[in-house]
Amino acid sequence: MKVIIAGGGIGGLSLALFLHKAGVPCKVFEKVPKIQHLGVGITLLPHAVKALDEIGLVEALDRLGVQTDRMIFRTRAGQDVWNAPRGLAAGYDVPQITAHRADIHDVLLDAVSERLPAGTLTLDAAFESVEDTGDGVRATFRREDGSPLVEDGDVLIGADGIHSAVRRWMNPDEGAPRWSGLMLWRGSVDWPSVMDGHTIINSGGIDRKFIFYPIGPGRTEGTQLMNWACVVRQAEPGAPAPGREDWNREAKAEVLHPILEHFTVPETDIRAMVDATDVFWDFPMCDRDPLTSWTRGRVTLMGDAAHPMYPFGANGSAQAILDARALGRLCGDAGGRTPEQVLAAYEQERLGPVNEVVAGNRSGGPERVIDEVEKRIADLPGERFDDLESVLPLAERDAIVNGYSRMAGFANEQVR
Ligand SMILES: Cc1cc2nc3c(=O)[nH]c(=O)nc-3n(C[C@H](O)[C@H](O)[C@H](O)COP(=O)(O)OP(=O)(O)OC[C@H]3O[C@@H](n4cnc5c(N)ncnc54)[C@H](O)[C@@H]3O)c2cc1C
Repeated sequence: MKVIIAGGGIGGLSLALFLHKAGVPCKVFEKVPKIQHLGVGITLLPHAVKALDEIGLVEALDRLGVQTDRMIFRTRAGQDVWNAPRGLAAGYDVPQITAHRADIHDVLLDAVSERLPAGTLTLDAAFESVEDTGDGVRATFRREDGSPLVEDGDVLIGADGIHSAVRRWMNPDEGAPRWSGLMLWRGSVDWPSVMDGHTIINSGGIDRKFIFYPIGPGRTEGTQLMNWACVVRQAEPGAPAPGREDWNREAKAEVLHPILEHFTVPETDIRAMVDATDVFWDFPMCDRDPLTSWTRGRVTLMGDAAHPMYPFGANGSAQAILDARALGRLCGDAGGRTPEQVLAAYEQERLGPVNEVVAGNRSGGPERVIDEVEKRIADLPGERFDDLESVLPLAERDAIVNGYSRMAGFANEQVR
């Protein structure tokens, strides 16, 4: 089987590596003419790290990123509602890693260029159309100068992100992604380590949230590259988005100042952290209504093209990597199935569980534990509680946070 992949992001490149491991040839076509260092931090949850370990990438990622040892969920007023170990510190046999998206992308790119034949990745090739030739597919890509590139293969996988052209080709009437009504600002800055330098601090419920965590070493002694993100509700879910969801739209610190006043974060000065960030970006947080099928014959979708999701729960990259692993395994061990049957088996394995994650993230993911507490203490002075247990008992908090881990497939017993 020969696989054509549209999109050389985290999902598409992971797929190329899993296919290579399974002995299946592939070609990757990526729209951008030049790879740029874009984005900010991404979390690789233990199930994704376990998968990346199968293709020998964890050592490199671990060198560039930071292992997460602790996760704190707390109210805007600064009171912890969940404070628990993560990754190796929580007894997993693989770490949880946070890293700059560009570093993760580089590790994948290096592995593809070292392991796969020269010419596997073609840049400046935007997917345009695909036709079934009876015994395969013929995909057409377009260069920026307008010239076409045509590739024949057995199957085409759309790994071309939230604005997927492959998905549009399959579902021409679907329209734009659906805005949650939430605006997300994200940046990263060299900043003094906070706590043990391995902790994610996540303050506030879904409508007003500030999160920060380290994603790599800093430039000077005692600092780390600190990733931060701020979320604020601006409209109801489904309202028209204020501009296209573009990962690289620059924003201004002044917009955030009045919002940051609402957070108490004793460990560090988050306003100074934002002010010290040279350039940062806003992004209308979007997803799409889950599809009931990703596959048409010899064409299927994966990653954000198949199931874009809100970043609550930090599962976007992980689920793309798990798709890649499933496709790699099924294409490599077709067991007498036709290419159409291989893609149907992939969809059968992945669509149901991932659509559950998309739905779980719409209601806040594991961070919903903060919303539940904030809802119940809204009338208390300073929105502060005296006894967390009487506000939301541990069993209920555990059901939200660990229930999410089990649903998304990264509870400790699922990753072993
Ligand atoms: C530039 C960029 C910055 C990002 N920054 C962040 C971030 O800071 N934090 C975060 O949580 N997530 C970020 N993401 C999203 C994150 O990478 C994904 O949610 C997740 O990793 C799933 O990966 P994916 O491969 O499905 O999608 P992506 O990683 O989005 O990759 C999709 C790839 O397809 C390419 N592509 C698009 N259209 C076409 C086409 N017509 N033909 C061929 N190729 C096409 C894109 O250029 C991209 O390389 C970013 C994505 C991009 C593209």
